[in-house]
Amino acid sequence: MQVSAILAEKGHDVATAMPDAPMMAIIEDLADKNIGAIVITNAQNGVAGIISERDVVRALAQNGASVVDQPVSTFMTQSVVTCAEHESSHDLMAKMTSGRFRHLPVVSDTHLVGIISIGDIVKARIEEVQREAEALRDYIASS
Ligand code: AMP
Repeated sequence: MQVSAILAEKGHDVATAMPDAPMMAIIEDLADKNIGAIVITNAQNGVAGIISERDVVRALAQNGASVVDQPVSTFMTQSVVTCAEHESSHDLMAKMTSGRFRHLPVVSDTHLVGIISIGDIVKARIEEVQREAEALRDYIASS
């Protein structure tokens, strides 16, 4: 399944924040929206970084509670791997496995247009397998 098809089903909404957002706002957003990562964007809606719940835990463990008043830019991952709408769920699985992360921002012309999580990939793969099984059943029943 292509990224564009996954986005057509789940929508293009992405939780974002600017690099100067305080960590407390990030933590509240992760909790309120029940999500695992927030994409940090620049003024042109390009990807400037990503912060996931793992980064928050690491920052708190290493620096203590004062982290909440510091800007997210201090703790985000700056070198973000992204994907394009024409890529397949297989391409994304390979990127997530080799990079050991669970989120891939979708970029078109340097602009952020969506995000795919490992949960979205698993859902897409299950639907694909179900469709294949149905097609096989229909084929067997008709032959
Ligand atoms: P996650 O598995 O998404 O919770 O992220 C695990 C670690 O990888 C955290 O340090 C994230 O900041 C980082 N990370 C998450 N997604 C990406 C990505 N697409 N590119 C680079 N690093 C990422």
